[in-house]
Amino acid sequence: KVRVRFAPSPTGPLHIGGVRTALFNYLFAKKHGGDFVLRIEDTDQNRYVEGAEQYITEALNWCGIPYDEGPNKDGGYGPYRQSERKKLYKDFALQLISNGNAYYAFDTPKKLDFHRKDHESKGKTFIYNWHNRLKLTNSLSLTPGEVQQKLADGEPFVIRFKTPENQTLKLKDTIRGEIQIDTNTLDDKILFKSDGMPTYHLANIVDDHLMEISHVIRGEEWLPSLALHQMLYDAFGWNAPEFAHLPLIMKPVGKGKLSKRDGEKGGFPVFPLSWNESKGYRESGYFPEAVVNFLALLGWNPGTEQELFTLSELVASFSLDRVNKSGARFDPDKTKWYNHHYLQGKTDNELATLFQRELISKSSIDPARLESSYVEKVVSLIKERANFVSDFWSLGYYFFEAPLEFNEKASRKQWKETTESLMLNVIKVLEATLEFKSPELEKNIKDWIGANDLSFGKVMGPLRLSLVGDMKGPHVFDIIELLGQQESVNRIKNAIA
Ligand code: GLU
Repeated sequence: KVRVRFAPSPTGPLHIGGVRTALFNYLFAKKHGGDFVLRIEDTDQNRYVEGAEQYITEALNWCGIPYDEGPNKDGGYGPYRQSERKKLYKDFALQLISNGNAYYAFDTPKKLDFHRKDHESKGKTFIYNWHNRLKLTNSLSLTPGEVQQKLADGEPFVIRFKTPENQTLKLKDTIRGEIQIDTNTLDDKILFKSDGMPTYHLANIVDDHLMEISHVIRGEEWLPSLALHQMLYDAFGWNAPEFAHLPLIMKPVGKGKLSKRDGEKGGFPVFPLSWNESKGYRESGYFPEAVVNFLALLGWNPGTEQELFTLSELVASFSLDRVNKSGARFDPDKTKWYNHHYLQGKTDNELATLFQRELISKSSIDPARLESSYVEKVVSLIKERANFVSDFWSLGYYFFEAPLEFNEKASRKQWKETTESLMLNVIKVLEATLEFKSPELEKNIKDWIGANDLSFGKVMGPLRLSLVGDMKGPHVFDIIELLGQQESVNRIKNAIA
């Protein structure tokens, strides 16, 4: 059975790259009728951040990709927080010691630092493996009696993995194919510390095994750990899961991976939800469907030109074969484009409800203009140009308040000597239009222009300016219909006064 996991460390807010990892795991699980597990990797107590786990859960829920199994949702493989599994790791570390794949090491940080500097001064890199083991303080260089004594004395220790020497490992990655690694280049990584806590490597492998994870799908930054992880599976005599390392998400411009600072500089979010000072996608007015859609295409492609996918379409089309090796460039404009698309797909009623929340805070608006039916009509006229609900106000404020000022440049251009008398006549036409609807209004105004041989532009320009205060907005007769006869007439009178 397919079982995948998302295994974040609760060290802060979930970055958009983390959400992409979660999404790909989710899509893969759903595609194969499998389980999507959330495991909290909180063995490093120093980096633990209060509230981060809740943030992660909330972010996944907001995206619409909830986990099947995880904290507070036991699927028989719990607990799902490593801090709550603390007791079980030591036996596994000891198992590796007894089968000759790990050893105790007692080197002080100072001593290790000395060796590192000493190597550096000779232009070499210090590697803690068979090259140097016997020069250091560990159960391979000490007698069994000395080791027992140190343990009995309560001397601080770590348990290190004993990397085999002179081997070429052939590692398999679903996305990258075969990767060869020379074990002589690898450090004997720490698996367990005397504070009773496992390191990431040990806990991660033990839990993936115990939780029967079939596929490990994670970011490229974990690729360097793959060799150790494969060696650990072999040392335990366990079958390893399949591995797939997802490409990095790159900065919009230049080199390197996307960071929080790119977002700060570019004014776009890099977190799904807000965190401290940073606004997230949710707070910036993105719809979860848009975020999921653009994230899916960061590193994966369907093999067709299709760019728009619902979550269930993604589940149907997703496969690891179509995940690229090379980094995926993040494009903030494209994310807006996606939001634009999903905004157009909302009903006017949904959009009006969202817009009303902003409108209510503006005390200057006549309550009649806050009615859903009115706001819906406004939204239907302006939404085409909006990427976000928060664009609605600047696109349509004049539906709620008469313009307080008129665009100066436009006024100079539009306002002629004849304008005032033309506008007085427009008022007459508006007052004479009984069926106050856009097509009738348009017909009557045009008939009057035609009958008097007037210039269309000389009427329409100042008319729009009087109603809107500017030369923008939808079809002018739609604006007039919506504002209503009295308000439209008032605005024109006000403009010529
Ligand atoms: N705890 C690791 C992280 O924070 C998990 C890496 C993995 O998926 O193996 O990303």
